[in-house]
Amino acid sequence: MCVPSPARRDLVVLNFFSRKPPDEPTIDSSVRAALDDWFSDAAVPGTERVEAEPVLAALPEVEWRINARAKRLRLTIKSGRVWVTIPPRTSQATVKKFLKDTESWLNSQWQKQQALKLKHPDLAGSDPARTSLPQSQQTLILPALTQTWYLDVSDRYSRLKAHGNILHVPESKAVASLKNWVKQQAEGYLPDRLAELADQYGFHYSGCTVRHARGRWGSCSRQGKINLNAALILLAPELLDYVLLHELCHTRQFNHSPLFWAEMLAVCPSYISNRRALKHIELPLWWHASA
Ligand SMILES: [Zn+2]
Repeated sequence: MCVPSPARRDLVVLNFFSRKPPDEPTIDSSVRAALDDWFSDAAVPGTERVEAEPVLAALPEVEWRINARAKRLRLTIKSGRVWVTIPPRTSQATVKKFLKDTESWLNSQWQKQQALKLKHPDLAGSDPARTSLPQSQQTLILPALTQTWYLDVSDRYSRLKAHGNILHVPESKAVASLKNWVKQQAEGYLPDRLAELADQYGFHYSGCTVRHARGRWGSCSRQGKINLNAALILLAPELLDYVLLHELCHTRQFNHSPLFWAEMLAVCPSYISNRRALKHIELPLWWHASA
């Protein structure tokens, strides 16, 4: 719903309207590959491998993330996934002991989260299966920029490079680098488009920031500062404009009163159908992934 946030009275937000419930959690093959690599490098000959088995049958498989900056072992449960963050040069025995020691905590947290999700499906968060990029040579379309990019995901690349109409994406950090690239495109376009629409319709606002936000398309503060979700760059131009105009109308009406919708109608006669269409938007699978 598009209502003032109860927690932030100085901000009106335009939320995502629908969210799909998560699928069954799956293990990320790149994480498994990274783990295999790590163990092949770090394992002392003759020692047994740590199995990536579920700690408990009801849990998804425990994933592994080697983090060079991690100071200690950490267990995280999020969006239907469980992973252990491993600092460099941690022995397998230490990891195994850690998993054993945290087993009952993990189990109780998992049960709690599952119960909460059943009760409040809307709180389930991002779809845990939406974590990997499409297969190599799939496309990424930026409708507002009338651009179609072909994704070439491979471990031959160490960082993302745009070449012609192809995005060469490093496989090991595909999700993070692609999200970052999309955000850059959004930062390069959304503030300009907002300024253009403001000029066209005589709106005044005090600033604009682009963020990778969850759950909201945009917001406008009482001071007239507009925050935009970087994912807007993935929408059709008319939906993008609807969101920008919606936030601009809040600079005149800081509410969703009939006066606000009258402003909206004046600058965007198709706002009702745009609003309806926004409810059915599905962002790319990787957009909300945490990796
Ligand atoms: Zn609003």
